[in-house]
Order: sequence, then structure tokens, then C-alpha cells
Amino acid sequence: MSDLSELYQGVILDHNRRPRNFGPLPDASAEAEGYNPLCGDRFTVRVKMDGDRIESVKFEGMGCAISKASASVMTTLVAGKTREEARAMFDRFQQMVMGQGTGAGPGGRKLAVFSGVSEFPSRVKCAILGWHALRAALEERTPAPVSTE
Ligand code: ZN
Repeated sequence: MSDLSELYQGVILDHNRRPRNFGPLPDASAEAEGYNPLCGDRFTVRVKMDGDRIESVKFEGMGCAISKASASVMTTLVAGKTREEARAMFDRFQQMVMGQGTGAGPGGRKLAVFSGVSEFPSRVKCAILGWHALRAALEERTPAPVSTE
């Protein structure tokens, strides 16, 4: 283990133990549930929009350390961002965990915490779950839970 991956692991453990923005958001303007059947991760992401900007974002549910930490880091990154900025961040995150990019750009250093996931295909879905739910909530299409399958 390099120092860098130990650092990353520390961030993941910290966010898993003390997830940020975890809990209900009673005045949410949209929400979506994400479910990863492979691991059993299930989270609901809620956003409160101010026009096109994400005023606040919270999540709740249960899942493994990677899925929970990733959703937690996500909420710290997208609060205050526009739909478009959040979507662009989703794209960079998705490419990075699939081993197709470094995640560099706004929030890149926090996103990079999850770059090691690209070596473990079964964990990619854990890492991306909260982001999928966020994107669905931003698109306000919430008829069925989004599944990573
Ligand atoms: Zn998981």
C-alpha cells in the first residue's frame, strides 16, 4: 500500500463513519432512490433546488463503506452547483472509476479518493450509486428506483 492509497482509505473510512449530509430533507424538491443489487446498497438522494442551482442535498439509506462514503463526498461537492456542473462532475467521476480518466477538474481531488475503485469492477457500482441517484433526482424522473443493473 502506498501512502496515497492509505490516505484515500482514511477519507473513505471517515466518510463511512461520519457521513456528511446524511438524513432527511423535508423540503426537498426532488428525490431518487438508487439500488445496487450486487452489493445491496440502497440510498435515497434528495435535492432542494433554487432555480437551476442545488441549494441543498442530503441522502439516507444503507450500504457498504464505498457506497456510503462516495455518496457523502458527492453531497459535499455538488451543494451550490448548477444542474449542469453536477452532471459534468458525474461524468468525470464515472469515467474515472471506470479507469478512463483522472477525474481532474472542479472537486477532482475529492473525486480521486475513489480512483482505486477502477481496479475492482464489482465496487464501481458501489461508488457510482449515489451519483446515479443524484442524476435521476436532478432530471426529476423518479417513477422507479434507479438500478445499477
Ligand atoms: Zn456496495
